[in-house]
Amino acid sequence: MLNRLVDGRTPSKDEAYNIYRDAEIDPTELYQVSQLLRTNNKGKIVTYSRKVFFNLVNLCRDTCSYCTYKSEPGQDKVSMLSKNDIIVLAEVAKKQHCTEALFVTGERPEQKYQEAKTWLKENGFSSTAEYLIKASEIALDNGLFPHTNAGNLTKEEMRQLKETNVSLGVMLENSSERLSGNGMPHQFAPSKSPKARIKVLQNAGELKIPMTTGLLIGIGESPQELIDSIYAIKEIHEKYGNIQEIILQNFQPKIDTPMKSSPSPQERYFKTLVALARIILPKTNIQIPPNLSPESYSSFLSAGINDWGGISPITQDFVNPEFPWPKIQDIDASCSDAGFHLRARFPVYPEFFHMVNQDLVSKMSEIADSENLVSGEYAR
Ligand code: SF4
Repeated sequence: MLNRLVDGRTPSKDEAYNIYRDAEIDPTELYQVSQLLRTNNKGKIVTYSRKVFFNLVNLCRDTCSYCTYKSEPGQDKVSMLSKNDIIVLAEVAKKQHCTEALFVTGERPEQKYQEAKTWLKENGFSSTAEYLIKASEIALDNGLFPHTNAGNLTKEEMRQLKETNVSLGVMLENSSERLSGNGMPHQFAPSKSPKARIKVLQNAGELKIPMTTGLLIGIGESPQELIDSIYAIKEIHEKYGNIQEIILQNFQPKIDTPMKSSPSPQERYFKTLVALARIILPKTNIQIPPNLSPESYSSFLSAGINDWGGISPITQDFVNPEFPWPKIQDIDASCSDAGFHLRARFPVYPEFFHMVNQDLVSKMSEIADSENLVSGEYAR
């Protein structure tokens, strides 16, 4: 079966389950094939996006049992950025040669918290989405390229954000409804309903917006549910062609959450799913966050990944604050040692430039090379 995949065939879901079961005994052949498919489709280049993380507002209407990003009003970690905060941070980011302005918010905080409504009103807006449109304009005016991840945006909100954002993001997490059941991590997070998330990805597809999505691995799912989730993303991409990358994120327990005692997934399980994603979606960009596997991230090159995601020289990973980003020079050295070439990309992959607003493409082309990767001083 694996030999046939090298010739360009993709496995059926049942075949993928069987490949997983065989890999539980010995994953060597699976890794060999996933590496080969990565090299055939992506060459020896591994990318990352030099970013600044704008934690615009971390109040959230929902509650996921693994989330430490979400804050309650009055907590030390609460973040509610003003327009001036955005300008100041954007200026610092520009000096540090960041290209991506990552805007992250909780899910529609104004629907639950008066504090969020007041904060929006003080800044001149009635919804978080309205503020995101303005925040993206500020970032763009300061030479950064926005990528927004604000949960389940409506189609109209995404249409407006497409004017300033080169791509958008929403994690599927998993396509299993079981994970929204009693006692499961998404029980109190209606926005994480797989149907709702898939609808957002489909709406983005209709709008021709390059989308980042991904799966959270190790939150109580079965391997079959993860494989089904990869196929759910594949189906969207086959219909709309707008899934620019899949992030495979290994769950890490947070001390202040209900899942604080749940273990992170075994590395071999995580790596096997990464390799399966590569054989199911051989041409798709597959990313793991290097800060969540600080001792072993470069070994995932041998499971078929081709991207490290956004890495910030100036802001922390507010979703995983206990995991600092590795230094870009260290990632560069690890890639070289493994026979790869690290390159900086924009928050939209080169092959998706055709979907992006032409004004934004023109701006990117000022610092892009002939392959639409970041060039010159911005590439360092
Ligand atoms: S993961 Fe997102 S939706 Fe869930 S609680 Fe955290 S901020 Fe809210």
